[in-house]
Amino acid sequence: MTIYNLGSINADLAYSVPHLPLPGETLAASEMIRGLGGKGANMSVAAARAAGRVVHIGAVGKEGGWAVERLMEYGVDTRHIATVDAATGHAIILVDGQGENSIVIHHGANHAIPEELLGRVLADADTGDILLMQNETLLQPEAARMARKLGLRVAYAAAPFEAEAALAVLDHTDILVLNAVEMAQLEEATGLDLPRMGVKTVIVTEGGDGCRIHLAENGWKPERFAAPKVNAVDTTGAGDTFTGYLIAGIDRGMPLKQAVDLATRAAAIMVTRRGTADVIPDLKDVQDARL
Ligand code: ADP
Repeated sequence: MTIYNLGSINADLAYSVPHLPLPGETLAASEMIRGLGGKGANMSVAAARAAGRVVHIGAVGKEGGWAVERLMEYGVDTRHIATVDAATGHAIILVDGQGENSIVIHHGANHAIPEELLGRVLADADTGDILLMQNETLLQPEAARMARKLGLRVAYAAAPFEAEAALAVLDHTDILVLNAVEMAQLEEATGLDLPRMGVKTVIVTEGGDGCRIHLAENGWKPERFAAPKVNAVDTTGAGDTFTGYLIAGIDRGMPLKQAVDLATRAAAIMVTRRGTADVIPDLKDVQDARL
């Protein structure tokens, strides 16, 4: 089966600075690293590394060819990434000597994905394929409705959390993945408890504690999965790696618990590495790891 991921593509531009700049201050960075990032791209890479067939639906600006090429190298189908008249989405990350950071995000092309792309791409989809989406693009409600009508399953990672965005798609969501903070925000913003959210499968990640799954068919009783103990050096992209692996597992027909187990192992390796999309472990790393 195929995963259609409607998602952001960012250049993560990380600058090492002696201290975070004060208002009006100009600073020279001692180092700059450009990596591929964005929740959408991260999840596409993770799902592809987990041996999933992934079609990315997204957009970059004219200078974003390198990001598309990198996605392609990681095994993502990039034929439906549009080049639009906007800057490629990017995050400017300033990191000081103590590891403290300040981040500015520009959505750019991620908010300019042409709507007609959705219909064109999803027309090729088969019943049982999966539409995956997050909150760093627009068009999620349109995509979810279209996907449901075509018989696809809809997986939604409600991050970064936005109450309005979440409310607009929950009714069309089959699998909801979010971290514990986002879950609390969702409950507070909507006043809804799990049974009334309209989603039958909910997976809540809990950082180093692992995750819990809530299924309608089990009366929502939480089932917990512990994370392996590892030496965590950078938790950036842990949730994205988890979700990409989880959805790839489900798409490949694994029982949910097996897919959660795979995702938990992949995310545990991810937190031992610095970086985002470029360092997401591949399936062999996950299978070989002694966790
Ligand atoms: P997010 O990155 O979206 O904030 P979490 O922090 O909940 O999400 O992390 C997602 C998943 O990554 C967790 O469910 C867990 O499997 C894994 N993970 C995160 N932090 C650690 C850690 N310190 N040790 C092992 N696994 C971790």
